[in-house]
Amino acid sequence: MSSPTLSRTRLPSRRLCLAGAVLSAASLALTGAAQAADEVNVYSYREPGLIQPMLKAFTEQTGIKVNFIFAKDGLVERMVAEGRNSPVDVLLTNESGLLLQAQSAGVTQPVKDAALETAVPAALREPAGHWFGLTRRARVVYASKDRVKQDAITYEELADPKWKGKVCIRSGQHTYNVALVASMIANLGPEKAEDWLKGLKANLARKPAGGDREAVRDVHSGQCDLAVGNTYYMVAMLKNPEQKAWADSVKILFPNAADRGTHVNISGMALAAHAPHKDAGLKLMQFLVSPKVQEMYAEANGEYPVVAGVPEPAVVKGWGPLQPDSLPLAKIGELRKAASELIDKVRFDAAP
Ligand code: FE
Repeated sequence: MSSPTLSRTRLPSRRLCLAGAVLSAASLALTGAAQAADEVNVYSYREPGLIQPMLKAFTEQTGIKVNFIFAKDGLVERMVAEGRNSPVDVLLTNESGLLLQAQSAGVTQPVKDAALETAVPAALREPAGHWFGLTRRARVVYASKDRVKQDAITYEELADPKWKGKVCIRSGQHTYNVALVASMIANLGPEKAEDWLKGLKANLARKPAGGDREAVRDVHSGQCDLAVGNTYYMVAMLKNPEQKAWADSVKILFPNAADRGTHVNISGMALAAHAPHKDAGLKLMQFLVSPKVQEMYAEANGEYPVVAGVPEPAVVKGWGPLQPDSLPLAKIGELRKAASELIDKVRFDAAP
């Protein structure tokens, strides 16, 4: 998943230094409670381009200044190293594995808050409030428009021998696939899930590698007929002139739409264990689940909001209704270790 270094941070070094200076100042000034209430420190695995407009709106509405550090890797490790002196109040992640990692590392704290609990469905938050979903994405099948006639599919069917040599997917150990396999263990039981995973492995057109977009690229090139990927990549490909043809060559099939529903995952947030500006942190968390901000966030990344009644982006709506699997994310989290071991056991990444 993520390496424990900050070496791959995308933040320009000048800005990282500046933000670091701000954070150090904040951590040194903890005794000034009045001043502390006017700012909040955010560590984000989510790219600044997605997050900054919402943080700016938060500051405009509340007057609370937001100090922001982005890194692709290593933020949870950094919080662990900082310990009680950590300046961070709110952690934002681009996926759920990092929320679970943060929780098990002890760098989150439970939040009991009626506004958050009303806004975020129970299946999309940690029962004690250690983390909350902010956006949803479905893990779907991208099927060749030319070569795949059917308009419905199940995850189980990906293991059907009729698809031999036709399926492309990224590494089994990637966090998105670990969560999917965990959902299969929860839904089918461990034995059937193992048979399924072996069947899927036997159907792969190539080694599990690359990202979800490369899997769709390989459908476009004819190497495979089906790719497994997250929904927001469709939006990203359509916006990218080099990738638009890949997107145009496929249709989205929502697996298990007719029975238990499609596996969904989340981006999310957590309140830091030692948040120096706890009240401001909670205010930011409440702001991020308010309907207007939910709409803004989903639109920015082509995702589904978590809050009921908030419209999804028009392009997302165009794919038809999403029937999500109701399995709680916390349950999927509990099964991630078993899923990861199963993926190793069947030597998934050694396929085909
Ligand atoms: Fe992604």
